[in-house]
Parts: sequence; C-alpha cells; structure tokens
Amino acid sequence: MPATADVVIIGAGIVGSSIAFHLTEAGVKNVLVIERETRQGLGSTGKSMGGVRAQFATDVNIRMSVYSIPFFARFEEATGHPSGYKPRGYLFMATNDRHMQYLRENQSRQKAQGLKNAELLSPDDIRKVLPQLRSDDIIGGSFCPTDGFVDPESVMNGFMACAIERGVELWRGAEVTGICSDHSTVSGVLTSKGSVSAPVVVNSAGPWAAAVARLAGVDLPVQPLRRMLVLSEPFAGLPERLPMMIDMSTGWHFRQEGLGILMAWAGSDQQPGFRTDFDPAFIEKVLTHAASRVPDFANLAVNPRRCWAGLYEMSPDHHAILGPAPELRGFYLANGFSGHGVMHSPATGRILADLIVHGQTQVIDAQDLNVQRFAEGRAIEETAIL
Ligand SMILES: Cc1cc2nc3c(=O)[nH]c(=O)nc-3n(C[C@H](O)[C@H](O)[C@H](O)COP(=O)(O)OP(=O)(O)OC[C@H]3O[C@@H](n4cnc5c(N)ncnc54)[C@H](O)[C@@H]3O)c2cc1C
Repeated sequence: MPATADVVIIGAGIVGSSIAFHLTEAGVKNVLVIERETRQGLGSTGKSMGGVRAQFATDVNIRMSVYSIPFFARFEEATGHPSGYKPRGYLFMATNDRHMQYLRENQSRQKAQGLKNAELLSPDDIRKVLPQLRSDDIIGGSFCPTDGFVDPESVMNGFMACAIERGVELWRGAEVTGICSDHSTVSGVLTSKGSVSAPVVVNSAGPWAAAVARLAGVDLPVQPLRRMLVLSEPFAGLPERLPMMIDMSTGWHFRQEGLGILMAWAGSDQQPGFRTDFDPAFIEKVLTHAASRVPDFANLAVNPRRCWAGLYEMSPDHHAILGPAPELRGFYLANGFSGHGVMHSPATGRILADLIVHGQTQVIDAQDLNVQRFAEGRAIEETAIL
C-alpha cells in the first residue's frame, strides 16, 4: 500500500523542520517530511553563521524578524529544546553620510513595524563596544540589542524533535524524484523509497528548490550562490559580549565563535552554482579587511581546514518566496531566503502553516512574498543584505 499524508514536506533543513512544527501547532498531525540525506543539516542550515537580526530595510523582512526573534527567545518553552539564542546585538558601523542616512531611514521603518529597541550610536559609543577598532573614519552606527545569534542545528533539531513527538514522520535517505498531479492539483510524490499520496506538498529544498519545483512543472527563480566563512584560531582580548560587527565601508563583518573570530565578506566575484569548496585565497582578502578595521587582527592565525563554504539560496529581490504556486493547486513554496533562512525560519513555519490550514496569515501581507510578484512587477528589493 502506498503511504499517505495530509502534508508532505520536501527537505528537512531548518525551514522544513519549522513548517512541520508549526503544522502540528495548527492541529495537522499526518505530516511526512522527506529528506534525501541520511541525516539533517547537510544543506545550508549546517553551514550558517547563525546570525539573527531585525535591522532590515524593508517592512516585510522587519516583520518576519519581529515575529522570529522573540520566538527564538521562548524557543525552549515552545518546543522543549534549546535554540542557543544569544542576544548580543548587531552593530552596523557607517563611514559616510549616505550610509548614516540609510541607517536612520531603516530605523524609522523598523520602529514603525514594532521594533522599539534599535538605536543610533555615536562614534564614541562604538569605540566603547570595541576599543581595538580603527575608528577615525566612523561617523556613527546603529545597534539593536535583541539581534544576535542562534545555534542553527539546535533550532532545526528542536523543531523536528518536537514535531516528531507530536506525530510527524521523518524519512531520511529518501529523495523526492517526482511530484504527481491530477487536473492541476497535487496528488502526491514519488520518492526513492516509494510513492506517497498527499493533497499538499511543500517545497523546502533550500538551494535545490528550483529543481524540486521543476518536478512540479513550476518555474522558481532561486539560484544557489557559494558563501565562504573564515574562522580564526583563538584570539584573546575581545570584550565578552561582542555583537556582530558590520563594517559598512566594505561589508566585512565578524563575531566571536568559541575562542576564535568568525568572519564573512560577500566579495564580488561569485557566480551562481553549486560549488561548496572553500577557496584558501579568500582568507587573505578577508584578513585585509579585518586588519584595516581592527589593526590587532593583522596577525590573526587561520587554519584553512577550519574554514568552510555553503550555499545561499538567492531570489531576484533578496526576499523569501512563500506561499502557493499558482500553476499547481496544493503545491507550496518556502524558498529563496537569500541568506536569511535561519533567522526567518520561525515566521516562515508559521506563515506556511497559516496559509495551508486557513488560507491566510496575520504575520505579514502574504501577497508581498508570493512568487507572482516577479511576473506582476511587485518585487521589493532588500538592500540590507550581508
Ligand atoms: C555560509 C553561510 C552563512 C549563513 N549565515 C546565515 C545567517 O547568519 N543567518 C541566517 O538567517 N541565514 C544564514 N544563512 C542562510 C541559511 O543557512 C539558509 O537560508 C537556511 O539554512 C535555509 O534553510 P532550508 O531548510 O531552506 O535549506 P537547507 O538547510 O539547505 O535544507 C534543504 C534540505 O532539502 C533537502 N533536499 C533537497 N532536494 C531534495 C529532494 N529532491 N528530496 C528530498 N530532500 C531534498 C536537502 O538535502 C536539504 O537537507 C547562511 C548560509 C550560508 C551558506
């Protein structure tokens, strides 16, 4: 007998796991999550920097964070498992008037969307946070103390463990190879472990989402983009509760990771594709920015074997693509997070569960993030991407 489910979720990363959890919150029990790897976390989720922030430039991204960050704070109460949330803040440092004006405008928008605790900082305030900074060109910044970090694997595992405790089933080592339909309505999936009939199928396949959408005959504008992180060997002398520090003049940013420093920089020469090898030449580029902003970092030791790369899943306007696919009834998208899928996983799970069960959501205006926005000329560019 083929298996049946009320909802099939393709991909058990942080997004698929959150959707499974939120469906159980909404009372849906017969949920099957299908993951092709033999364990969770081998996609983008296990490669993430774990940053969570509400300091965005668009209303919808701010609202996604205003839902998600308090959720991380009460994650253990909600799921019975830890999230590793550390409210250390994100500190954006501006070196020119254009950037300062940008931070000011973003902050008014953030306040209007309910984020009350973001503040503008003076150069002196910033120097106090990290006295080792070269700050001669810093003219100000912005800071939000409830931004910070989570442990992405812990969040993913917590969502899934709680969902399983409530009856959700997880198939590991099973690849979805086909999506079946009848009269433009989803009827199930084909997998390497057999077929499953289901009236609702959710695509949460991270950087592989476009290929999964193609199985359903749906054209999804999501592309993988390699993203590299550089981790230093232990470095003593930084303040204990350092925020994520972002140098807006270069885009270079860093935070503490254990005893070392975890650094990121978008670079400019990445082409879309599935490469996930770490390029050792990247270390020197990152250390050049590091030494220029924090002279003590000039002698940071870095072991290339402790650095890594993973995939961002980029959408054309750097916003997630959420909700039903118009071509196929019952096929839902939770894709294209453009580097924000960890921080927005709670809101995404809630929105998808709302749309599947009730056909509407209060978390955001669902129209803003549906896939039709590209064809209808309603794309909303996010510029505060790191
Ligand atoms: C270096 C790096 C740093 C990042 N830093 C941050 C950060 O600081 N903050 C933040 O919010 N985000 C960050 N991100 C982005 C974040 O990691 C992703 O947005 C998020 O993990 C996406 O989760 P997901 O569940 O959609 O995808 P994934 O974790 O990739 O999960 C998708 C799953 O789908 C499975 N799958 C694919 N195809 C099939 C199939 N046909 N059948 C069955 N299963 C399938 C895959 O095996 C995979 O497990 C970062 C990403 C990278 C690479």
